Amino acid sequence: MSQHKPILPGATIGVLGSGQLGRMLAIAARQMGYHIHVLSPATNTPTGAVADLEINAAYDDLDAISKFAQGVDVVTYEFENVPAATASAAAAHAPLRPGAQLLAVAQNRIREKSFFADNGLPVSPFHPIRSRTDLDTAINELGYPTILKTATSGYDGKGQYRLNSPADVDPAWQDLNGQEAILEAFVPFKQEVSIVAARGLDGHIVTYGLLTNDHENHILDVTYTPSNVPPTVINQANQLAHTVLTQLDVVGVLCIEMFLMEDNTLLLNEIAPRPHNSGHLTVDACVTSQFEQQLRAICGLPLGDTRYHQPAAMANLLGDLWQGGTPNWHALTQQTDIKLHLYGKKEARPGRKMGHITVMATSAEAAVTRVRQARNSLTHT
Ligand code: AMP
Repeated sequence: MSQHKPILPGATIGVLGSGQLGRMLAIAARQMGYHIHVLSPATNTPTGAVADLEINAAYDDLDAISKFAQGVDVVTYEFENVPAATASAAAAHAPLRPGAQLLAVAQNRIREKSFFADNGLPVSPFHPIRSRTDLDTAINELGYPTILKTATSGYDGKGQYRLNSPADVDPAWQDLNGQEAILEAFVPFKQEVSIVAARGLDGHIVTYGLLTNDHENHILDVTYTPSNVPPTVINQANQLAHTVLTQLDVVGVLCIEMFLMEDNTLLLNEIAPRPHNSGHLTVDACVTSQFEQQLRAICGLPLGDTRYHQPAAMANLLGDLWQGGTPNWHALTQQTDIKLHLYGKKEARPGRKMGHITVMATSAEAAVTRVRQARNSLTHT
């Protein structure tokens, strides 16, 4: 099939990775009459439960990846750690969207921060760390506090060490155990924000505006939009997104996580090369969800309308809510403004993302108050 012919309903989408992001893509795809095949090393997965076919294979099983790609019309992924060899094995048989270039940048913090700096995108000062000498030199330049992060595989604050004083250096270095890392200046941000954006096969770009994110213990807790910022900040975020998507020739959806500073400037933190937790509220609050958008982009369809029906807020439901027993679904379901999304995960471990709730209201502030109230009702008997 030609790379530029649209992939239409009836075709089959292949997804690498089987968590909630794949599940919500699968739901959007099935709604529009596409088939979904998923490959991951796990069984009985959130995506598998709503897919036409669930393949159980390791991501480095290149024979399984090739066979999988031969059975679908386009391959996408729902996590950033797809090995480069896997990406090329898939791309040999079906279009891989987004492509390997975005994956390479998003899965390594050194490449990612260097990409930002090389393209004139604002980023906090950083140094690649490959030896103890690198670390000592970098600390001399950046001073304290700084943040040491593993170059690969870190998420939700894992593989991160805050260095406040010389006493923190040795333990962090030992824990790193020779892994490649990056040392970043600590950013005294006033808010964490993100922008979810999509680029089509024709190069057209759309965004969902600026999302404000509150974290708890390094894990996203609540997202709301519109953000309480001057229009210049939103313009700046849109411009940054245009640069990232264009330079990396992205076909698909990505999210850029950023820090908003006191003076309303933005610093880029990282790129998620796929739909993102902060974009979940688009499922209920927008004409086109981030998942339908991913589908449209990778299928070569025109991108959907990103307008919001109303201000909205989303709260994550972590496994912690299950620790005192089953959450009070009766109380939650009595509240008819609340949209509930559960991911079908069997085991509710603390910190594990089990689902989320979304609400729309007349203002972002009102939506945040409502979504927090509703979540609190889950632990009331
Ligand atoms: P990351 O894995 O890079 O998204 O970092 C996880 C969280 O750690 C971020 O959402 C921030 O809350 C915090 N963080 C990361 N990098 C920095 C930094 N350079 N300065 C201050 N806080 C940071």
